[in-house]
Amino acid sequence: MKLALHWKILIGMALGVAFGIIMSMIGMNQIVMDWVAPFGTIFISMLKMIAIPLIIASLIKGISDLQDISKFSKIGIQTIVIYVMTTVIAVSIGLTLVNIVNPGKHVSEQTIADILNDGNNDPTSKISAASQTQEQGPLQFLVDLVPDNVIGSMSDNGSMLKVIFFVVFFGICMLLIKKEHRDPLHNFFVGLNEVILKMVDLIMLYAPIGVFALLASLVASTTNPDLFIALGMYAITVVLGLLLMLGFYVTVVRLYTGKSPGFFFRGIGPAQLVAFSTSSSAATLPVTMERVEEHLGVEEEVTSFVCPVGATINMDGTSLYQAVAAVFISQALGFDLSFGMIGTILVTSVLASIGSAAVPGAGLIMLIIVLQSINFPADKLAIGIALVMAVDRPLDMLRTVINISGDATVAMIVGKRVGKLGEPIEKDWDDNYKVEHP
Ligand code: ASP
Repeated sequence: MKLALHWKILIGMALGVAFGIIMSMIGMNQIVMDWVAPFGTIFISMLKMIAIPLIIASLIKGISDLQDISKFSKIGIQTIVIYVMTTVIAVSIGLTLVNIVNPGKHVSEQTIADILNDGNNDPTSKISAASQTQEQGPLQFLVDLVPDNVIGSMSDNGSMLKVIFFVVFFGICMLLIKKEHRDPLHNFFVGLNEVILKMVDLIMLYAPIGVFALLASLVASTTNPDLFIALGMYAITVVLGLLLMLGFYVTVVRLYTGKSPGFFFRGIGPAQLVAFSTSSSAATLPVTMERVEEHLGVEEEVTSFVCPVGATINMDGTSLYQAVAAVFISQALGFDLSFGMIGTILVTSVLASIGSAAVPGAGLIMLIIVLQSINFPADKLAIGIALVMAVDRPLDMLRTVINISGDATVAMIVGKRVGKLGEPIEKDWDDNYKVEHP
């Protein structure tokens, strides 16, 4: 019997961690960085390489398949509303938990001193990145939606929303032209889409090696695991919140679509493992889309819009983390939070997660803006950020899993609402070696 892909990926991850630990113990970290890490970087690059072409092909095909613009606006509005709702729920869970557990009260002066002395936790670059973001005006997000040069935007993975704007506009205009002109174009994008989905399949065959390299290099470059224990209560609070969020997703999926948690996890599992290993919802996007469409049964018209938009604006894990971290830092550094400030954290965490880039560590930069919104004292800000930075990477890996799980959940809900959730047409990954034409 052939081993299922998610088992292969899990084995790759476990071996990667074990290998990283052994190599660190015998002091051969540099060998891992020089000879193993590049294979992880190649895996991430391959996934990112196909993200923009996949969005273009699948979204144009999806919209032009709809045959009706009003259906698209229905999908669009529902997606955004449900995304905001799940994010508000995530932040509320985070705020409730952190106020029950009070993890900041468990941090000793010694831990703070240790972290400040650890050269790896210098927050200066994060703080300057945050201040650049903050200097923008309130309507900047609208300006940022519209590309002035779409070819330029397509060459930048950070400009996904701009590409989506152009492609949606393009798809809608395709519906408005004569059928004889539309059809050849439509067929072209159908073919392109199939090819790129096939590329995702083949890249995923390489995933076990990719995640092995990513985790081995991560472990080999981790300098001070003791800090994780010192900040244990904070990390546990974040992890608990993320688990509750996962419980919330499977409950909603069960109640709203009738699909079991087993079905959900089998479907989205490989994407969750890739999210964990890469810490980037953007890099995971091609896998998320493929899994949601072919394994959760959400039709392409919905998947092609909900998933890329979700990868950019829907980050439930990140928003929950930002809320917990903001309160934790305030508690640890003795900054009293009023009720109004908690409300401000709620609103800014929702907005900050929408604004966070789908790349490793982005949530930490936006956390600075959340803290500044409650007038957190500037002299303590750097200490607070250094504090959470010490354990950011593992938490980033976990919150990225929640970010993409939220996108998959919303895709299923929207799919159900607009009658585009069916039975998945599962393919065996390895079958994809075969040539499918006669
Ligand atoms: N790494 C996260 C993501 O890509 C963003 C973050 O929370 O830092 O989804």
